[in-house]
Amino acid sequence: MKILYASSEIVPFAKTGGLADVAGALPVALSELGHEVVLVMPKYRAVDEKKFDLEKVFDGLPVRVADRIEYADVYRSKIPNSKVTVYFISNRKYFDRDGLYQERGVDYPDNCERFSFFSRAVMEFIPKTSFVPQIVHCNDWQTALIISYAKKMYKWPKTATVYSIHNMGYLGLFPKDQLFKTGFGWEMFTSDTLEFWGNFSLTKAGLVFADVINTVSETYAQEIQTVEFGCGLDGLLKSRHADVYGILNGIDYNVWNPETDPQIVKNYGIKSIPLKYENKAALQRINGLPEKDNLPVIGMITRLADQKGFDILARALEEIIQLKCQLVILGTGDLKYHELLLAAKKKYPRNLGINLGFDSAMAQQIYAGSDMFLMPSRYEPCGLGQLISYKYGTIPVVRKTGGLADTVHDYDPKTGKGDGFVFTEYSSAALVAAVKRAIDTYKNKKVWMPLVEKVMCYDYSWASSARKYVELYKKALKKVGVDLETTSSARKFAADKMSKRDFLLL
Ligand code: ADP
Repeated sequence: MKILYASSEIVPFAKTGGLADVAGALPVALSELGHEVVLVMPKYRAVDEKKFDLEKVFDGLPVRVADRIEYADVYRSKIPNSKVTVYFISNRKYFDRDGLYQERGVDYPDNCERFSFFSRAVMEFIPKTSFVPQIVHCNDWQTALIISYAKKMYKWPKTATVYSIHNMGYLGLFPKDQLFKTGFGWEMFTSDTLEFWGNFSLTKAGLVFADVINTVSETYAQEIQTVEFGCGLDGLLKSRHADVYGILNGIDYNVWNPETDPQIVKNYGIKSIPLKYENKAALQRINGLPEKDNLPVIGMITRLADQKGFDILARALEEIIQLKCQLVILGTGDLKYHELLLAAKKKYPRNLGINLGFDSAMAQQIYAGSDMFLMPSRYEPCGLGQLISYKYGTIPVVRKTGGLADTVHDYDPKTGKGDGFVFTEYSSAALVAAVKRAIDTYKNKKVWMPLVEKVMCYDYSWASSARKYVELYKKALKKVGVDLETTSSARKFAADKMSKRDFLLL
């Protein structure tokens, strides 16, 4: 299959969250299954042109935005150590900025224009290459317009479209007077197209027009069809429920592997678990915390957003600290949480390590050096932190929601079953109780160490999820009248007939 995969962030070029991890790994796994995948993303300032050997392949591509023509340069590179081509759409005005979508917690006011430009540039550029996609796979609101362009404006025939929801909480909402920037007219401002309570939503461009829709865990695929998690689009999703699927994300063990991770102080693996604790000492040191090996260290790496459970954590902080532990947090996002965490650090300097910013090296050191990993999310489409933690022998403490419910099972000391500490009610009390159970279990090393060993053996690599995406692509193709199963059996039948005739001719 030929797959065009559009994402607004891709590891290792630019990242703010899990979407980048997925976009950097799933296409490689698909290409290893024999499919041809081409990626497209914006060329932000963060993309290191020299390091990734970007080559300019197109100069001054005209792209219509609103009533003007803007120009895109296009660069090309590859995902390192793969065959996967990545095209970068460049325009200084739109993408040569400090942030991807926002700065200091405030969204760029021209995000609609930026991603309309990006999406139309993709539509203009791809036909100029020799690559003819059978599948166009878009991710979240930033690239959703590509799907509506393929269906309604450029009318790419026989191209099947797939829309992946990585987070329903971001609807790509804009005031209606910006609709013209997308190039669409008022015919797209109806409740069954892009209109959303008087504004318009770019997420709807994906949900309404995609042949199939998926999200990143089975539980979240169900949850988004409810009022509680659907963010106002649960009705639309329910009406399309026959086309909504859940496929769990994998993780890329070339990046996330304590045996080879170049960012951590001491490499270790299943046969050398004691070395993990050199990373713990280093983590405590870097964070100015007392180097006590018997005190449990709880790590947290996250966007500082309401979704991630900071309100219940803020109220639980004092009680958690009284349980005798250290908490190391790395994150960036809402200013209110920056302030909250800095104030907490002042109050508990010996128990809290606070790192405000985006820092991949620190993230890897936290996965390696922590005993537990905390994810008290209000909702969580898949969550990668718990899967990465498993590999690093760090036990997750999570709220039972979305992908966390699918991947973390509450530990039962009687049977030894389970792989983390899970709480259900979204409350500080339930969170503290789960942390307490984790700390109590941690104190008994005869129980704790086998648990660490068990989770380090888990395999959440991309191969099996990539196969599920291939099945999803086949479903999308069927919707546009292309049946790969019958096409290949028809070809086989023709080949059989051919060989018989050839045989007769002999
Ligand atoms: P989300 O996509 O909602 O942000 P996920 O758990 O799916 O959450 O993915 C988060 C990814 O981003 C993980 O790879 C995590 O390690 C990384 N990450 C999040 N915040 C930071 C940060 N401040 N610095 C470095 N890495 C981060």
